[in-house]
Amino acid sequence: KAKKTLGVHHQYYEPAMEEEVTERLTMLRMLRADFALDKLELWFQPQLCLKSQAVVGMEALLRWPHQPGRYISPAIFIPLAEYSGLIVDIGQWVLEQACKQLQQLAAANCGSLRIAVNVSMPQFRSPHFVPSVIDTVKRYQVNPQLLELEITESVVMDEPKIVIDALQQLKSFGIKVAIDDFGIGFSSLSYLQQLPLDRIKVDRAFVSTVTNEGGGLIAETIISLGKRIGLSTIAEGVETKEQLQAVMAMGCEEVQGYLFAKPMPAADLMQYLLAYQDGKLKP
Ligand code: C2E
Ligand code: MG
Ligand code: MG
Ligand code: MG
Repeated sequence: KAKKTLGVHHQYYEPAMEEEVTERLTMLRMLRADFALDKLELWFQPQLCLKSQAVVGMEALLRWPHQPGRYISPAIFIPLAEYSGLIVDIGQWVLEQACKQLQQLAAANCGSLRIAVNVSMPQFRSPHFVPSVIDTVKRYQVNPQLLELEITESVVMDEPKIVIDALQQLKSFGIKVAIDDFGIGFSSLSYLQQLPLDRIKVDRAFVSTVTNEGGGLIAETIISLGKRIGLSTIAEGVETKEQLQAVMAMGCEEVQGYLFAKPMPAADLMQYLLAYQDGKLKP
């Protein structure tokens, strides 16, 4: 936005803009430093099967504790990490933590639970991505079928060939693939058949409005589309019993949301799984 003074456009001087850039650079520097100091955390949010009512897996979600007890939202720092390329190293760390967690779950007799990890475009652009995912899974002796990668539609749209190639290699190694936030950028509908997918995640926007006419129609369409092309569907952001009942009636297979559990630190996960198994947490 150019500032107009005496009819002259001062395009290069807008204090507010400058402040914003400085603020983001400061934040990026802090993120880099905290990542180097091993201060990032990986939290987990349970995913449940509606038919068996069992926990079948969880999504791994990054947390950045900035000050004690205060977290900066991934919605703010993930784009910074993507823009700067830092997400490539952070993403590898996330993958290691997820595999470590899978190893611990197997040791605790929870060896059938899967973990879904979010993957950004800069990771796909790195030529080391596919080999390092495979190497990490091997190093932790994890069953590749229990690792799922979540990609958004925008990632696919960005570089379809690179992404499809990488996913095909990972799929043939046994790793699962889910398309995240589905329905938000529906221009990728044409890629749906070219992508080696296992699961569709119905975006929270359509789940939170599922009991309204419009939202319900979209959720229902996505779920039946999934069925017709042989993909499993999971509804994200389920917060109420009404939403749960609605997506269930539509034939959705799995759910994830605050109604069941919020994302939690790895240290709380075992306790949650035990309490859930004992029937103490079922809504
Ligand atoms: P996402 O992959 O779509 O993750 C789901 C988001 O919805 C998470 O937000 C989760 O905490 C939130 N959520 C789950 N259930 C509910 C619910 O019932 N109600 C509401 N209001 N929210 C719910 P979060 O943790 O803030 O993450 C935001 C986004 O940041 C993620 O969206 C993902 O795109 C990105 N992200 C998080 N961790 C990673 C990571 O390790 N790598 C990459 N590349 N991106 C990540
Ligand atoms: Mg996700
Ligand atoms: Mg999502
Ligand atoms: Mg999302």
